[in-house]
Amino acid sequence: MRRTKLVASLGPATDDDSVLRGIIRAGVDVARVNLSHGSVDEGMERYNAVRRIAAEEGRHVGILADLPGPKVRVAKFSEETPFANGDKVKIVAGTTASSRKVVEVDYPDIVSSFVVGDRVVIGDGRMVLEVRDVENDALQAEVVHAGTLTGQPGVHVPADKLSMSTPTPHDLKLLDAFVEVGVDMVAISFVKSAHDMRRVGTEPHPRGPLLVAKIETRAAIENLEGIIEASGAIMVARGDLGNELPIEDLPITQKQIIQRCIAGGKPVITATQMLESMITAPAPTRAEASDVANAVWDGTSAVMLSGETAVGVDPINVVRTMGRIARKADEVFDHEAWARNVTALRMTADEGSGREVTDAMTVAAWRAVRELDVAAVLCISGTGFTVRQMARFRPEAMILGLTTDTRTLNQLSMSWGTTPVYLPTAGTREEMMAEAVKVAVAEGHVRSGDQVALLGGDGIGAKVTNNLRIVVAP
Ligand code: PGA
Ligand code: MN
Repeated sequence: MRRTKLVASLGPATDDDSVLRGIIRAGVDVARVNLSHGSVDEGMERYNAVRRIAAEEGRHVGILADLPGPKVRVAKFSEETPFANGDKVKIVAGTTASSRKVVEVDYPDIVSSFVVGDRVVIGDGRMVLEVRDVENDALQAEVVHAGTLTGQPGVHVPADKLSMSTPTPHDLKLLDAFVEVGVDMVAISFVKSAHDMRRVGTEPHPRGPLLVAKIETRAAIENLEGIIEASGAIMVARGDLGNELPIEDLPITQKQIIQRCIAGGKPVITATQMLESMITAPAPTRAEASDVANAVWDGTSAVMLSGETAVGVDPINVVRTMGRIARKADEVFDHEAWARNVTALRMTADEGSGREVTDAMTVAAWRAVRELDVAAVLCISGTGFTVRQMARFRPEAMILGLTTDTRTLNQLSMSWGTTPVYLPTAGTREEMMAEAVKVAVAEGHVRSGDQVALLGGDGIGAKVTNNLRIVVAP
C-alpha cells in the first residue's frame, strides 16, 4: 500500500468524467482546484464533479481550493509564440494581449519593479529576459534563455518589491464561495508571515477548511516557524520559490521545510514540476522519477501534480506513474531513522493545553509499534490532531484515522500513511474503542486476531488523547 499521498491538479484535461474517475481510481487522494486559471464557475464545476464521482466510487477524496494570491501574469498569447535568444522584447503594463514584440503584464507597477540588469522570469523558468533599459512606461528587455510561451504564464516579480499582499480581496471572494459549499482545504499563495494566514479568517478546522500555506517567498522562509504554527498544512511551492532563491538552494530548502513541518505535526506537500515532462511524454525523465522518490525520503506527506494532470496528454497515466514511484520509495523508507529524528525534533505543545498529553501518547504508541507486532494504529480523533501527531513518526504500521466528522475525514486525505475511516456512532470511550476495532475489521483494514494499538480520548469531544491500548481484534 502506498503511504505517501497524491495531490492532482484539475484542469481541462481532467474535465471529462471518465478521466476524472480514472485518476481517482488510479489513487488521487486530494484534488486541487487551481483558481489561478479558469473562471470561478469552472472551478465550482470541478469541485462538484469530484464530490459526485468520489461518492460514487466510495472514496474520501479531499478537495483543495488553491487561491491565486497576488500572482502577476502576462496578457494572453493568442498562439504558441517561440522566442529566440537575443530577441528584443518590450514589457509594459496591460491586460489586452501579448505578442513576440510586446509582452503586457497585469501589474501596474511592473516597470518600476525592475532595474537595468534584472532578470525577468516567465512561466516558472520557461523563459528568461534581461532588462536592458528602463523607460517611463516600458522595460526594454532581451531574451537570454529562449522559450515558447502560450496562454497566460506568470511573471516573477520579486516578492519584496511586490506591493500587493495576500490574501487579496479577490482571494477572499473566492474563499467565501468555496467555504460556502464546504471545501476541505484552501491554499494561500505568496504568504509572507503568520499574519497573512490569520487574515484568512475562516473558522478553525475541521469546521472551517484546513489552511495550507504555500511557501514561495523569501519572507516565508524567514518566518517559517510562525507560519507553520498558524497553518493546518504547508506546500513547498517550488515553482515560485525557485524564482526567489538561487536554484542551488532549492533542494536543501525543501528538506528543511519538510523537517520543520513534520516536527510540528503538520502535513507537507511537495509541489511543482515533479513529472513535468509527462505533460507531453508517456514516461518521466530519470531525474523526475528520482525527484519524486527523494521527496518521499525527505519525509514529504504528499507529492503534487500540476500541469501534468491539469493540461497533460494522459492524466491517468501520470497518476499511475507517480503512484508507482511513490509506493516503491515508501517500501524502502527508513522508518526507524525518521522516527528517531522526529522524537528529537518534535515541538512539544504548551504545557496545560492538553496537547502535550497527546504528544506523549503518540510517542508511546510509536514505541509500542516498534516493540510489539502491531498491525495498525487506530486513532480515534475529532479534529484529526491525534492522527497527524501519530503520522509524524512515519510508522511502518498502518494508521487509521477514525472520526465521526466527515470534514475531518476528507482533511485526513492529505496525512501521510493515513487511511481515513468513518466512525458511525459517537459515544463513551469504551463504546468508541470497541466500535473502532469493529469497523476496522469490517472494512478489511485489519483481520481478526491482529494486534492493534488504539489511541483516543475519553469519548467524543475529548480535547486530550489520554488512552493507549494494545488489543487483539476479535
Ligand atoms: P502555483 O503554486 O502553481 O499556484 O504557482 C505552486 C508553485 O509556485 O510551485
Ligand atoms: Mn506559486
